[in-house]
Amino acid sequence: MKNQHQSIKSIQKEMISACIQLADLGFLAGIGGNLAVRVDQTLMVVTPSASDYYSMKPEDLCVLKLETLEMVEGKKEPTTESGIHASFFLERPDLNVSLHTHQPLASAITLLGKDVPLESKEAKEKIGSKLMMVSYAPSGTSFLVKAFRKKITQQMNGYLLKNHGIVCGAKDLKSAIRSVILIEEEATAFLKQSIQKNRRNIQFPKPIMDQIETVFSK
Ligand SMILES: [Zn+2]
Repeated sequence: MKNQHQSIKSIQKEMISACIQLADLGFLAGIGGNLAVRVDQTLMVVTPSASDYYSMKPEDLCVLKLETLEMVEGKKEPTTESGIHASFFLERPDLNVSLHTHQPLASAITLLGKDVPLESKEAKEKIGSKLMMVSYAPSGTSFLVKAFRKKITQQMNGYLLKNHGIVCGAKDLKSAIRSVILIEEEATAFLKQSIQKNRRNIQFPKPIMDQIETVFSK
């Protein structure tokens, strides 16, 4: 038990610095987005609900049972997307990190409602041949967990939650952060291409189009 306690402590510390890196990248959109790390076959550590990532302390992170989401350690409310992370770990025993972000351009491509192919060699190796689209359900509900769980495959580590954000799985935190950076690069290239090919018929709502144009005009 002492060993497990030690490993939870070090996971909590590593998660704090990962969250700060992700917040610095602008991938958590304020207090949106959340992170989970597996402890073993039965437990995970998750970020608390609606937390400011810059003031978060290791003891604010919650330890939950994967099967039941019962909290075994922690004082704060766990993230409302805990069910997503638990499903990912249960379906994919090979993954140790599950990351949900609201990163800007990858979130924009979730509005298109379809799978997005990945192009770079590194992205394909780390994430798979494409980002899989998960049909829409409101954030934090069992409907979203069900829709996500149905889509999980052994070959793909990156998923687009329709009109919402992304979920990415990885072996460790460093690899998870690299993967979401790659996803943002791929989403940027994909949008650029779609706009060039189809400037007049592009199906984004105007505010998003304006945001995309601003990003590309920099
Ligand atoms: Zn979200």
